[in-house]
Amino acid sequence: ERVGFAIIGLGRIALEQALPAFAECRMARPVALVSGSPEKAGLVARQYGIRPEAVLGYAQFERLRDMPEVQAVYIALPNAMHREFTERAAVIGKHVLTEKPMATSSEDCAAMIAACARAKVRLMVAYRCQYEQVNRAAIQAAQSGALGRLRFFHATNLQSNGPGPQWRYSRRLAGGGALPDIGLYCLNAARYLSNEEPVEVIAQSFTPAGDERYREVEESMSFTLRFPSGLLAQAQSSYGAYQEKSYRLSGERGSLLLQDAFSYQGQQLHLFRREGARGIEQHPQIHPRNQFALEIDHMARCVRESRRPHTPGEEGLRDQQIMEAIYRSAESGRPEPIPAWPAELPVR
Ligand code: NAD
Repeated sequence: ERVGFAIIGLGRIALEQALPAFAECRMARPVALVSGSPEKAGLVARQYGIRPEAVLGYAQFERLRDMPEVQAVYIALPNAMHREFTERAAVIGKHVLTEKPMATSSEDCAAMIAACARAKVRLMVAYRCQYEQVNRAAIQAAQSGALGRLRFFHATNLQSNGPGPQWRYSRRLAGGGALPDIGLYCLNAARYLSNEEPVEVIAQSFTPAGDERYREVEESMSFTLRFPSGLLAQAQSSYGAYQEKSYRLSGERGSLLLQDAFSYQGQQLHLFRREGARGIEQHPQIHPRNQFALEIDHMARCVRESRRPHTPGEEGLRDQQIMEAIYRSAESGRPEPIPAWPAELPVR
């Protein structure tokens, strides 16, 4: 029997990626919808074979308590709403898969972790790239020692955004601009590739004058993280530059390039090494699978087997703490320390 999910919020990511991905899942199925638009939700329910009685408004969320077929919720709402719906899900005993960024403050992230721990439900942040196979091959290469000691990481997550207004340009609903929305992928990748926690950051933000969209949030954020091993991780994220979503990791003995690292599909990995006097380039071919399906199936497996997710709430809290240090540095113009992560608390 597949683990039943309620989809909370029917915006772009839910309709265009997550719901279609369930068709490729092996352990999960959508069984309920929670939406502010009954008309849209009714259409979607028919499309995915969801019972009309399992289509609810936000105020009726707690009715999910009486639907045993719903074991988990997938929260695809604006960032600032993730906390409220995580806490409401925990109270009614449902496991939580929440979209990234986990929330808009580290206080909110900590409250979400506490609520799920109290209720003994699983909490996972939807860091899809950590379930995507080519990123996983890059992690494997970085951590196998094949590249030698890691020196530099360079990641870009750039896109040219269309006109507003939408919640992404609201500080209250989004928590920030390019950094929490797309720069987060660069930050998370620096951590998952190195398996280290950064200790210091220096950052600069840029916002074009006179652009109505960027009255509250930054258009661009550039930052450099320093890791205890000496690794320096540089990242550029922007809503105002031509699309590029790649990273490069350079070690003493080799390097890797992952094109389209953060895209929904099309990842291309290149590995460069020296063997004797010869430079070797490898381009591993990995059969593509839908990363949203892999992510949702992972959550389903954790629910079924009572396991801690690979990207639990702590992973989201950690990134949020680092983003807060990035904003402090962009504001002060100086390097800022990143609060230490307690060694006894596993991040992932
Ligand atoms: P969206 O604007 O397309 O959808 C948001 C949904 O929330 C809409 O259906 C909207 O009606 C609903 N909503 C409820 N209350 C709202 C309010 N007060 N203001 C605005 N909308 C409200 O956004 P999206 O792109 O689907 O993003 C949703 C979440 O998913 C965000 O947390 C975002 O960061 C995340 N996301 C993740 C990925 C990924 O690749 N994992 C990609 C895109 C978005």
